[in-house]
Amino acid sequence: MSKVTASCSSCRHQQALEAYDAINVAERPSLKEKVKDGSLFVWECPVCGTHNLAVYKTLYHDPEDRLMVWLLPDGEALDPRTKALEGHLDDYTLRIVRDTGSLVEKVNIWDAGLDDAVMEMAKYVTKVELSRKHGAEMLDIPLRFYRIEGPDHEIVLSFPLGGQMHVVNIGFNVYEDCKAILDRNPDARPAPGFAEVDSVWLAKYFR
Ligand SMILES: [Zn+2]
Repeated sequence: MSKVTASCSSCRHQQALEAYDAINVAERPSLKEKVKDGSLFVWECPVCGTHNLAVYKTLYHDPEDRLMVWLLPDGEALDPRTKALEGHLDDYTLRIVRDTGSLVEKVNIWDAGLDDAVMEMAKYVTKVELSRKHGAEMLDIPLRFYRIEGPDHEIVLSFPLGGQMHVVNIGFNVYEDCKAILDRNPDARPAPGFAEVDSVWLAKYFR
């Protein structure tokens, strides 16, 4: 653990927080659920009571699922020591994310047994669908995987709109169709090593 200083989003109060330098869920299994529901990163302002999302550099590591995700806010680059490790982590999925919400989403995707590259494509397809019904601005909404639901494994995506969180369910067949497309385009798989897989990544291949 190390100390970081966070600023309340509402009253700007400066608060010292304990930050995890690394989150190893094999050593501390209880942390996984707290990452999945985001609670690990939520802190309450002692002055005004606002719930804030802490943002700091940390490494999420799940040795069992072979998943490592670096949360590097502010466009920070991977440090050289980690870079040197990449070649020794062949059987791992290695990711970089830039915000806490994206880390939570990655962990939820892997925990559901799904693939984040396929999910990025399924989210894009869904945004195109939503924009046909509700207008072009829907193309810019940040959709996130939330969970799998029901006997048909419907995929629940969440998004903020008008100050509220909304959800949209899509059929598992959408995910399967996207997986088939990616399987036919091996060049469009994320590069080896720590990769950023998000809507910007997807736009390089499909748009
Ligand atoms: Zn406050």
